[in-house]
Parts: sequence; C-alpha cells; structure tokens
Amino acid sequence: MRLSALGALAPTLIGQAQAAPQSAPADLTPPPDLFDAQLLDLDFWVKPRTLSVTRPQSGERAKLLYWKDGEVIDSAYQQLCHLLRDVNGRETAPIDPKLLEMLWGTQAFIARYGMDQPLEILSGYRTPASNARLLEQGIPAARKSLHMVGKAADIRVASLNEEVLGGLIRSFRQGGVGYYYRSGPKGGWIHADTGLNRTWKG
Ligand SMILES: [Zn+2]
Repeated sequence: MRLSALGALAPTLIGQAQAAPQSAPADLTPPPDLFDAQLLDLDFWVKPRTLSVTRPQSGERAKLLYWKDGEVIDSAYQQLCHLLRDVNGRETAPIDPKLLEMLWGTQAFIARYGMDQPLEILSGYRTPASNARLLEQGIPAARKSLHMVGKAADIRVASLNEEVLGGLIRSFRQGGVGYYYRSGPKGGWIHADTGLNRTWKG
C-alpha cells in the first residue's frame, strides 16, 4: 500500500522539482517582453514630460516638453495637436491630454531600457470624412472611431513588435488597445485610445 502510494507520488515530485524556478538573484531589468507600466512609481509620473514623435506620412518630427509641474504647456500642446492632426483632411483638433499621457508614458518607460526612438504616429485625429474614406477603402476603421474625437492614435515604435508595444500600453489600463499585425519590413501597428478598457486584433 505504502509502496504504491510512493510510486504514484514520485513522478509528481520529480515534475515539481523540474518546474520550480531557479533561485537566481532578482533581476530588476525585465526583458522587453515583460514591460508592465504598473511597475511605475509616483516619481515617474511627476517628472517633466517630453514627447518625441514623427509622422512618417508627412515627414514631420518633433521633440516637445509639453507638461511640467502638473500643468500642460499650452504652446507645446498645440504643436502636438498639430502633429497628431488629420494629415489627409488637413484639419487639427484638440487631442485628449490623457492620450498624450499614455503616449508619453509608453515612450518614457521604454527609454528606461535604452530605447529612445521617437513614436511613429500613423494616425491621430481623423475627420469624419477621412474616417469614412478609410471604411470605403476597406482599411480597418470603426464607424464611431475615437480618432474622430481626438482620443485615439495608431502608433509604432521601431524595434518593438506589436505584441510588446500593445502589452505595454495595455498595462497602463487607460483605454482600448487594438493589435494590427502585418507582415513586411515595418510590421504592424497598435491602436491606443482613451475609451473603455478593451483589446482586439484587427
Ligand atoms: Zn486606430
């Protein structure tokens, strides 16, 4: 009786021993597939915020200090709204400061790991006409897109794949994240918005 019980337990014990984590010293620098914004402390959020962005569509590029001592710096905010404008529709609209915070947080967080490349803004604000045109062309766009109210951006960061970038933005728990996987040299993009917390693949 005892022997058979031991015989049944033995493989389990061996399995556990193999699965047990190694007692390596805690590594404070996670690999890029473990980015988690919940690790951030208050110090991170009170620092001055400089956002570095490019618009591949128009070739524009800017690095702007837009928030300091708890306040948005209006001139820089206006420039960021212009950069996130509808390039096709040639229209600028107010961008939700919470979206800028999400973009800045993403950039500032990865900068801690030596990644200081600008955020590529593929799409920011969209006029209803531009959004309708995308739908007609069969390009993924929602009929009531948050892009039309300045609460969404489609972004890419060179050297970060969709999974890692999307996972990081998701970890802020500040809105929706859409994963757009595409093959090709530049890969896909991530849709980030300040609407309800949700995720999807497009
Ligand atoms: Zn989008």
